[in-house]
Amino acid sequence: MTIVLLGAPGAGKGTQCKHIVARYGLLHLSSGDILRRQRAEGTELGKKAQSDMDSGVLVSDDIIVEMMIEAIRRAPDIGFILDGFPRTVNQAVELDKSLASNRQDIDAVLNLKVDDRTVAERMTGRRSCPQCGAVYHIRNLRPKVDEICDNDGVKLVQRTDDSPEVVAHRLETYRQQTEPVVDYYKKTRVVYNIDANKDADEVSNSIFEKLNALAKV
Ligand code: ADP
Ligand code: AMP
Repeated sequence: MTIVLLGAPGAGKGTQCKHIVARYGLLHLSSGDILRRQRAEGTELGKKAQSDMDSGVLVSDDIIVEMMIEAIRRAPDIGFILDGFPRTVNQAVELDKSLASNRQDIDAVLNLKVDDRTVAERMTGRRSCPQCGAVYHIRNLRPKVDEICDNDGVKLVQRTDDSPEVVAHRLETYRQQTEPVVDYYKKTRVVYNIDANKDADEVSNSIFEKLNALAKV
């Protein structure tokens, strides 16, 4: 199964991907996570992406498309779920071309819909583990011990691009460059809108309902 998960930054895509992976065993391919790993490893790609990421603008399509197509090429047969990619119409077109050339297609496009206020609150309250990448929230999804990762005991950090100024910029970037991707998929495929304002388990249940129905078709 090949799934594209769309939604504003902070909508809960990464959180839901963890639930989807636990249930269906797909590979989670998050462009943001891959970029952060490249930065942590100090690669050329990581260095190129750094300033764009820190200021809340998109990294160039060429870099992202090459990076994600390479990751997809190595995905297992069971399938994968794309999180944070595609983020421009050009990326979506390049993804379609690449999948078609391998006789693959997208089975489901899910769009997480969240109110603006909720999105800003989710992003500014997000904390993550610099070691294992686990994601928490200061109020909604708290670790067992304040500010400490449940998995490895490492102190949680706030992403530099989750500061209120950069969040505003990222939401603007989303409106201008990524919302048109939803329209692109509405023209070419069925897009399933999911109400993602609810708590994480309820959102997962809505997603599972859609995916189970698709799997039966
Ligand atoms: P995205 O991957 O779309 O940027 P995340 O999955 O990282 O978003 O979620 C953003 C923040 O919101 C995180 O701190 C996460 O713990 C929290 N969060 C995610 N889903 C929900 C939800 N349904 N209800 C409340 N908080 C949530
Ligand atoms: P995310 O973790 O998805 O919020 O992404 C963090 C940052 O990485 C974004 O603000 C962009 O600078 C960059 N990024 C992630 N995915 C993409 C993409 N598909 N296209 C361009 N830039 C991206």
